Amino acid sequence: MRENMEFHKNDIVTVTIEDMSSDGEGIGKVDGLTLFVKDAVAGDRVEARIVKNKKNYAYGRLEKVVEPSPFRIEPECAYHRQCGGCQLQALSYERQLVFKQEKIRNSLIRIGGFSPEYVDRCMEPIVGMENPFRYRNKAQYPIGTDRDGNVIAGFYAGRTHSIIANTDCRLGAEENKAVLDCVLEYMRRNHVSAYDETTGTGLMRHVLIRKGFASGEIMVCLVINFRKGKGQDFLPRQAELISGLIKIKGMTSVSVSINTRRTNVIMGEEIHTIWGRDTIADTIHMRDMKQEGCPYTGEELTFQISPLSFYQVNPEQTEKLYSLALEYAGLTGQETVWDLYCGIGTISLFLAGKARKVRGVEVVPRAVEDARGNAQRNGIRNAEFSVGRAEEVLARRCAEGEEGKADVIVVDPPRKGCDGACLEAMLKVQPKRIVYVSCDPATLARDLKVLRDGGYELRRVRGVDQFGMTTHVESVALMSRMEDK
Ligand code: SAH
Repeated sequence: MRENMEFHKNDIVTVTIEDMSSDGEGIGKVDGLTLFVKDAVAGDRVEARIVKNKKNYAYGRLEKVVEPSPFRIEPECAYHRQCGGCQLQALSYERQLVFKQEKIRNSLIRIGGFSPEYVDRCMEPIVGMENPFRYRNKAQYPIGTDRDGNVIAGFYAGRTHSIIANTDCRLGAEENKAVLDCVLEYMRRNHVSAYDETTGTGLMRHVLIRKGFASGEIMVCLVINFRKGKGQDFLPRQAELISGLIKIKGMTSVSVSINTRRTNVIMGEEIHTIWGRDTIADTIHMRDMKQEGCPYTGEELTFQISPLSFYQVNPEQTEKLYSLALEYAGLTGQETVWDLYCGIGTISLFLAGKARKVRGVEVVPRAVEDARGNAQRNGIRNAEFSVGRAEEVLARRCAEGEEGKADVIVVDPPRKGCDGACLEAMLKVQPKRIVYVSCDPATLARDLKVLRDGGYELRRVRGVDQFGMTTHVESVALMSRMEDK
């Protein structure tokens, strides 16, 4: 065995992949050096080219799978390595779920400081997807030009802004391809230019496609770099494009979004409907999470979605995630419940059916407007929404006495987790139960630790896979006051 082995850039090494990082890279050891290899899966023996060399670890590029892992499968998408959006496509879906279950468990142990035995007692098996492909109801395809000057739609190659042509991302709806083919065909026939980021010229920037999975309704929004003059159409030969798009089954709304700024922000604020309705509808059903297959309970909510509104991208798994949050909340109809980081109020409105009063707090004013509209459309009168930072609104209401009372607090923060001041305010309010919905196990574990140190005990935790093929995982945790049990 060689000792003090040094590696150099471009060296080829053979390594057995023993583990996977939380970002989905394969991890192996060669002569004491830890090697991270993207696209390699646990159990593979691979040849890797050293691309970056640090003192105690290095990054390798997968060159060849010498002996495939028993968990390795043939990826569905030919572009999965270039794209980087699906970090786990080469891993069987069953193993993806094991990976995610472990990711949550490890965070609770390493970051949260809970003992392995304790975690194993509280943790329930992850809720997987029936079909881990075609689950996204929203797609945003950039439009560009290839080397030969042909217009293309596709995706940005991992961490760059060069577009690789591909109109059929396997995570999206099947109709996306027909929409994009129609737009590209129209552009070719009419010499409509694609936007060029480097010069800020060209017309068509992005195509946004949304589908209501329950309603079957489809929305197309074309993001364009042009502000029309009076009496002009937004697009050259607009009627021709529309007549092509409306042949696609389910087409309900066609709009343009004006974005003339030189920015990475995809959507422009100004939207004009050029055919059909301004919004599409979708319905979310409550599910019985205690029963096999999670059947519908009969309760449902309908949402109107516009090109700019926030909406969960995987509605099927969102139903399961929020149904679980509702189950953990353990409501009897008498409670005052706070839903912090409430977005468009999806969770709040489900809670409202089982509580006396729900108060939602959200920092984005447009989302709060949507939440109020959704409450009204669904006939819900006991949900009230405030615009503001969760930590500030909760602390202020607390100081006002009765107004701040909370029997249950539900939080669903962004990846960075709850603000320290928010956790502090929650501990001051002393709700019976805290239900934490999280999209990042690391910040979840960090925050649960603070709540535990503040007198709450972790009772249940469960992962829900919302994003098959990727390393992301959502989870729900229930904490209650130690003395309450
Ligand atoms: N449950 C929501 C989604 C929550 S996503 C739904 O179904 O619609 C997290 C939300 O937290 C986002 O809407 C984001 O705008 C909001 N947010 C971020 N920081 C916040 C803060 N400090 N206070 C309140 N809301 C915040």
